[in-house]
Amino acid sequence: MKIGDRIRDLSGTEYVLEQAYNAGVQAEAFRARRASGNTQERLAVKIYKNPEKDRIKRLNRIIASTRNVNKGLPARTLCFPVSIIQNRYAEGVVMPHTPENSIQMSELFETPQELPASPKAFEAVTKGRVQYKTLLLNAFHLARATERLYRNGFAHCDFSISNVFIHRTNGSVSVIDADNLAVEGFLPAKVSGTSGYMAPELESGQKKAPDHETDAHSLAVLIFNLLVFRHPLVGSDMNVDFADDPFGKNALYTDHPANMSNRFRGGFDLGDLPQDIQSLFYSAFVEGLHDPQDRPSATKWISPLWNAIELLYTCEKCRQTTFFTHQTSARCLFCEHQNKRFFALLKFSNGFVKVVEADSILYPHHFFGNVRQYDLSEKLADFKIHKSGHFIFANRSNYDIKAEFVTGAAKTISLNKGCALSQVKRIYFSDNIYADIETFFKMI
Ligand SMILES: [Zn+2]
Repeated sequence: MKIGDRIRDLSGTEYVLEQAYNAGVQAEAFRARRASGNTQERLAVKIYKNPEKDRIKRLNRIIASTRNVNKGLPARTLCFPVSIIQNRYAEGVVMPHTPENSIQMSELFETPQELPASPKAFEAVTKGRVQYKTLLLNAFHLARATERLYRNGFAHCDFSISNVFIHRTNGSVSVIDADNLAVEGFLPAKVSGTSGYMAPELESGQKKAPDHETDAHSLAVLIFNLLVFRHPLVGSDMNVDFADDPFGKNALYTDHPANMSNRFRGGFDLGDLPQDIQSLFYSAFVEGLHDPQDRPSATKWISPLWNAIELLYTCEKCRQTTFFTHQTSARCLFCEHQNKRFFALLKFSNGFVKVVEADSILYPHHFFGNVRQYDLSEKLADFKIHKSGHFIFANRSNYDIKAEFVTGAAKTISLNKGCALSQVKRIYFSDNIYADIETFFKMI
């Protein structure tokens, strides 16, 4: 097939091939559009090089699940096939194209065979071209997409920096190569994964086919890439070309607490990440590295990643989003600037912690706990610096909130009413949820 060719799917819809992508081992891929009807939508057409038993059965199963799998996820998160091409000359599939503003992770991140760390990604953050918040959102969306696959009985089988696309502004992700999915207990995987990203038991040949447990390893590697800008199993002194099975039986976490023989020196400090994220990396790369059942599932990542996003603030000097990791210091992790302005920590009764400053907003999940958890469409409260210099909390909802003051007095705060946060000890948002307030003023 070549650019300009037209091809029909099984329903008779005709597509025009517009641009060829690098051919893979398995197939040729093109950007395409419909020849008539909705001709604006960018699509991808993949033409397989060889016939494969069960392919059509697999594709039909995947296509039938598309609506369920994508429900509630940002558009084009899982680029599932939408129709099948099958004629005398070719067998292929039509899929949504990745969004225009998204890039393949490999444009920013290095494979471990190239380099242990990803200087391009780190520079994109320190130079402000990519917000760290966006990378956290990418990780969050990737974990949600992976969870959704499992819930529908699929395993991706080949997560790597080549088939995950990240959106650099809104933080969404697009996972491609969804035509290779394994349907667990029904259709086994056709691919075994990519070296450096596949689980140790697959690298060493102990296990023959990927599944949700091996996906859990690949997911943890990609999240580590996104958050720490390097590979979790490649230390500074390792030469991957000469190392003995470094991703298989001898795989060792760079931050293993007891075995320090594979340390990575320099770079982003893992200790600056929220504790629950560090613990998940420990589960994935210490407890679960060679024991697949001990790896954190995709589900386990979702809340900690979301909570990490709520711990961010924007550095007043470099404008990068950074963590408030030490309660006594608002030092930017990327430019080391000491931010000196009003901050408060809201420690919610359900364990959730949020950093707030001027312009921060509270949403339904802050008021009510685990409801509409990832919905930012309704603003219920906000924070402002009043002209008097006070850091003010204001209720923007129709729900009455109760504030308990340091003096012991209490007051109901109704719609568009507020109070100075420095005087408040605890806020009761609903019958279920309250938050203890710690305020930090122009801290040094
Ligand atoms: Zn900074």
